Amino acid sequence: MSGTRTFTMIKPDAVKNQHIGPILERITSSGFKIVAMKLTQLSERDASLFYAVHKERPFFSELVDFMTSGPIVAAILEKENAVDDFRMLIGATNPAEAAEGTIRKLFAKSIGENAIHGSDSDENAEIESAFHFSGREQF
Ligand code: ATP
Ligand code: MG
Repeated sequence: MSGTRTFTMIKPDAVKNQHIGPILERITSSGFKIVAMKLTQLSERDASLFYAVHKERPFFSELVDFMTSGPIVAAILEKENAVDDFRMLIGATNPAEAAEGTIRKLFAKSIGENAIHGSDSDENAEIESAFHFSGREQF
């Protein structure tokens, strides 16, 4: 059975553009419960580690620059089938390809600056949650 938790970040573009409120509203009205949440800023080391899987990709340094460019909101979310349902809610990586009504369609400008992150597996949801929150903060 699929897991009940996923991890998200509202990315620097969306924070800068005052989209925290509307994005959280869409998340909670879609049935996700916020289990942990904080406004924080990633260091270069944090962003490089978080996106280490992409370190050989041509856009890696652009991605790290962007993710460290301002505050983000990190959160752990709970819902049945959390990972897949949240990826549906945020839409495709490239907002130009994201379905109508998805968070990226509504709030993102480009594939690089795409407003929000969602874990891609239960395993990564757990790793990413632990990366950003201590065990105690998750309860
Ligand atoms: P995320 O992991 O942030 O939720 P994703 O799973 O939809 O996004 P990934 O393939 O994991 O997409 O890419 C991670 C991030 O790297 C993307 O969200 C985007 O910010 C950036 N990225 C991916 N592809 C490109 C690209 N071709 N050009 C610029 N940036 C990109
Ligand atoms: Mg990803």
